[in-house]
Amino acid sequence: MSDGGTDGGTSRGRSTPADAGPSDAGQSRDAGSSSDAGTAVKRNMQLTFDDGPEPVKSALDPILAELEKRKVKAGFFVLGEEVKMSRGAIVAIQKASHVIGNHSWDHMMKGTRNYTEAQIYQEFEDTHLEVQKTGVIMEVWRTPRGEEAQRVEQILLSPSIPKKKALYTKTHCDWHADSGDAQSAASAEAMLRSIERGFASAAPLRVSGKRVWRLLFHVKPSTAKALPEVLDTLMERGGTFDDFSQ
Ligand SMILES: [Zn+2]
Repeated sequence: MSDGGTDGGTSRGRSTPADAGPSDAGQSRDAGSSSDAGTAVKRNMQLTFDDGPEPVKSALDPILAELEKRKVKAGFFVLGEEVKMSRGAIVAIQKASHVIGNHSWDHMMKGTRNYTEAQIYQEFEDTHLEVQKTGVIMEVWRTPRGEEAQRVEQILLSPSIPKKKALYTKTHCDWHADSGDAQSAASAEAMLRSIERGFASAAPLRVSGKRVWRLLFHVKPSTAKALPEVLDTLMERGGTFDDFSQ
């Protein structure tokens, strides 16, 4: 399962070059905070992890341990069918105070455009109810691959299906820099290259007046392995990690 982060799924507009990249350094440079003085760019980032909670032992557990070490809260966008297999994993994510979000039942494997309104609603409703069995009420959601985010948003926020009410009030949870780990990026180097491309091409969010970049990772063993180096390098380049919020 993968999120095509480059499929144009993010609904936020692409930035002009002035919004990101080297031109940013003038106002943001903090030479004192980095060993790479002069090129560091202060950047607030949020971390999100899609497609879990499986595999738990080889991916989720080490990712949770890494986040615990750094005292940062992330967003986990989970699949209902995997939650059903690993309910304890949801409890572990919640106990660590991370945010749990809805990512559909089975990643809508046939491609979102091939699903009817009722089918899409059911993908998210079934997942919502499965997670609710563990006592967690989800409030955020992200459509698989970022596909048809506006259509899915309309279905979840104001469905026109008889007897179905709004499942959520929040809009689609976008990301701004994709680690590429769902495609070919398996090493820290490759993930960093992909993330830097995201920084250069997408506009950040504003959360409480602050510019925030939301990063996309997946619950995968290769990601768990590369994560410490990826996060260390982003910090060396001037980044800080904020708790997930939307
Ligand atoms: Zn996904």
